[in-house]
Amino acid sequence: MSAIDPSPSARAADPPLGHAPGSPGSPGSLRAANQRRVVALLQQGGDAPVSQADIARTTGLAPATVSNIVRDLAAAGLVETTVGSGRRGTTVVIARGAGLVVGIDFGHRHVRVALGDLGGQVLAVDREALDPDHAHGDGLDLAGALLDRLLDRSGATRESIVNVGLGLPTPLAADGTVMAAAILPGWVGVNAELEAQRALGHPAHADNDANLGALAEHRRGAGRGHPNMVFIKVSSGVGAGLVLDGRLFRGAHGTAGEIGHLTLDEQGPFCRCGSRGCLEAYASVGMAQSALADQFPGAGIDQLVTAARQGNVSVLRMFEDAGLHLGWGLAMLANLINPSTIIVGGDMSRAGELLLESVRVGLRRHALASVSAKTTVTGAGLGDRASVIGALMLAMDRTELIPAAGLS
Ligand SMILES: [Zn+2]
Repeated sequence: MSAIDPSPSARAADPPLGHAPGSPGSPGSLRAANQRRVVALLQQGGDAPVSQADIARTTGLAPATVSNIVRDLAAAGLVETTVGSGRRGTTVVIARGAGLVVGIDFGHRHVRVALGDLGGQVLAVDREALDPDHAHGDGLDLAGALLDRLLDRSGATRESIVNVGLGLPTPLAADGTVMAAAILPGWVGVNAELEAQRALGHPAHADNDANLGALAEHRRGAGRGHPNMVFIKVSSGVGAGLVLDGRLFRGAHGTAGEIGHLTLDEQGPFCRCGSRGCLEAYASVGMAQSALADQFPGAGIDQLVTAARQGNVSVLRMFEDAGLHLGWGLAMLANLINPSTIIVGGDMSRAGELLLESVRVGLRRHALASVSAKTTVTGAGLGDRASVIGALMLAMDRTELIPAAGLS
């Protein structure tokens, strides 16, 4: 795997540019930059082959340049070509042998793991229940065991893995350290990237789970074609991932999108963050469970969704109230950044329209009329897999898939 840069690159903008061989402007760096454009295009195509002519047309590169780049990538074992017949010409896909990537998403009570190839194809996904108070090392060991099962199922081995993406329901510092995690107490102060790398033996890159959900929905889900969009994850915590001008917006220190702690009532109930009346205190799984503890002691969200569908008035009212508050918080955000769509994911979104309808009402009530009229509100296109697919994409983005310097 000499063609792939195994070092964990800096947590930076999306997509990352990696390390160019040669100084900027040198023939080597220009070649590398052109190779990256071709690779990025192939990755967008997923497992659908792209013709060399299409590559030239889309990238604006000369057909002869594309042909040289494809030849170099094929020589390095990174792409496979098929000589087609007729007008289609030679088609190109990222080679399965170029390596595999792993996405891991930790929630409050579960961990999900996804295995994918560098062409953007998801090969397998699975999940395991997890104790919310688990130590981070135990959580990573469980993710490792789950990964081995997925590899087994796909007929692959750990040697083929080149990069790991990790999603956590907490803000992360620039170096991957977990800043505050009432949701996952066993991770506070832990450098998630280093610990994951140590536990799994591969370079790991971590990000907030709502950011990863936004990334995945933007590229593959309900956010396709929306360069300005919000993904809000409503589970035990409430967080948003923001895509602005086609790029994930993380803010100066990585905490952008902490919408769950907007104050809706400063005399309201205490929140786990220490403040009062935060959005999260009105619209989260914890709120749902405590509000309905008398009628449904110990119920999980699925049980509550079922009760709502069967017409239980209290549960319907709970989802409606939660939706109105979410719409209120989202109205403040929508007034500020003017997204064209808001995608609601996370455990609470399993209620579907029972929640979304009142999110729209709350948005309409509190946003500028011109804003709410042009902002759609939908469920996640990738369902509850959005964050783990985003983790897979993070791992893919952080993999330098160009031939090492020296090839012509
Ligand atoms: Zn709070």
